[in-house]
Amino acid sequence: MASIFSKIAAGEIPSYKVAADDKHYAFLDINPVAPGHVLVIPRKETDYIFDIDDKEYQEYTLFAKRVAQALKEAMPCKRIGVAVMGLEVPHAHIHLIPMNSESDMNFKSKVTLPAEEMEAIAAAIAKKFDELNKA
Ligand code: 5GP
Repeated sequence: MASIFSKIAAGEIPSYKVAADDKHYAFLDINPVAPGHVLVIPRKETDYIFDIDDKEYQEYTLFAKRVAQALKEAMPCKRIGVAVMGLEVPHAHIHLIPMNSESDMNFKSKVTLPAEEMEAIAAAIAKKFDELNKA
């Protein structure tokens, strides 16, 4: 059975999309620890990130880097924090989180944003991603 993240990448379950290519998909975490908290996934399902084949891993992390660059421009901050946990959803995903202080990476503290704000944040990141990755 397809994972919830495969269904999101396929458009079967709605998400706040920020970037995509034929092998990867990036979208806002529905339960963010900070505004602009993004999840980046490979479309191909692998539970544990470090089981991903080397070439696919390189492509995946390079895609995540490009998303992080767009995220930093759209949501000005000191750094984009990176985390991998995978305890909840068995489909590899990299968390990208705009940070100004260590406390912005606290996974025990979530923020609730109205749908309009989530939409606006996703649109701003998507715009930057498109600008930075124009052919
Ligand atoms: P982890 O597996 O890394 O421990 O956490 C999974 C993350 O996925 C959590 O931050 C959670 O909020 C997020 N998440 C779980 N289900 C969904 C969903 O259906 N949509 C979105 N956008 N995020 C989700």
